[in-house]
Amino acid sequence: MIDERTYDDRDGWIWLDGKLVPWREANIHVLTHALHYASSVFEGQRAYEGTIFKLSEHSARLRNSASLLGFELPWSVEQIDAACIETLAANQMTDAYVRPVAWRGSEQMGVAAQRTKPHMAIAVWHWGAYFGEEKLRTGIRLDIATWRRPAPYTAPVHSKAAGLYMIATLSKHQAAASGFDDALMFDWRGQVAEATGANAFFIRDGIIHTPTPDCFLDGITRRTVIDLARRRGIAVVERAIWPEELEGFEQFFVTGSAAEVTPVSSAGPWNFEVGDLTRQLQKDYSDLANRRG
Ligand code: PMP
Repeated sequence: MIDERTYDDRDGWIWLDGKLVPWREANIHVLTHALHYASSVFEGQRAYEGTIFKLSEHSARLRNSASLLGFELPWSVEQIDAACIETLAANQMTDAYVRPVAWRGSEQMGVAAQRTKPHMAIAVWHWGAYFGEEKLRTGIRLDIATWRRPAPYTAPVHSKAAGLYMIATLSKHQAAASGFDDALMFDWRGQVAEATGANAFFIRDGIIHTPTPDCFLDGITRRTVIDLARRRGIAVVERAIWPEELEGFEQFFVTGSAAEVTPVSSAGPWNFEVGDLTRQLQKDYSDLANRRG
């Protein structure tokens, strides 16, 4: 059942700076540095049958994302892991999306933030298939975004930082306005990069090709799927991919903790089939996450 209430008006518990607080009381002040200057980083992971998939990888990435923005979290990977597990249990959920977020507080206003304190919260909620159940079979339709992933010297591109989602939201809205499910983004050089919240994979003649993650997130799902493919003996090539090549790929899928493995049926003018290899990797990922593998 979908909860239609806004995200600040729900029952349950949110972990905030070390303790569980009632959902509606997990608030921050309007003069929080994060709100004004995007000094915020977050994670997103899924719990399958009570176990949070790749939990420590996500906790480690949260700490690293904060570090890349110049602030250190006082919680260790083990403590973040434990807090996520505690929040899931407190909300009596087994299959859920888990959202840790960390940010700079309200001790200082202005661009400088040396005196701000780091904060962290963890919320969990039910979140079904990212693009809806049906799209897992039929594939999503992607627009081509006009925004481009920035160069590594333009933004801290390997941080899962809130500020980097500004162009993702704009691209997603532009895509939705034209009837698409999401958008494929190119990078500052014009190379194929990723979707607004998921990494991209292409298949041609039984070989998988995926862009080198040198200016966007090297997703945890991405790495998992590369490993699953290689274990099946399928070659995976990480390299620069140019838009001209999209014409020649037979299959296309995206990966992410929320998106899992979702086939793509079209991207701009290019069409793709939802093929056997995509379906196999989708199943392999689902089996692994659900510990059936
Ligand atoms: N790129 C972006 C922009 C994302 O938001 C995500 C989702 N975190 C990914 C890629 C995929 O990362 P992961 O597989 O670690 O969830």
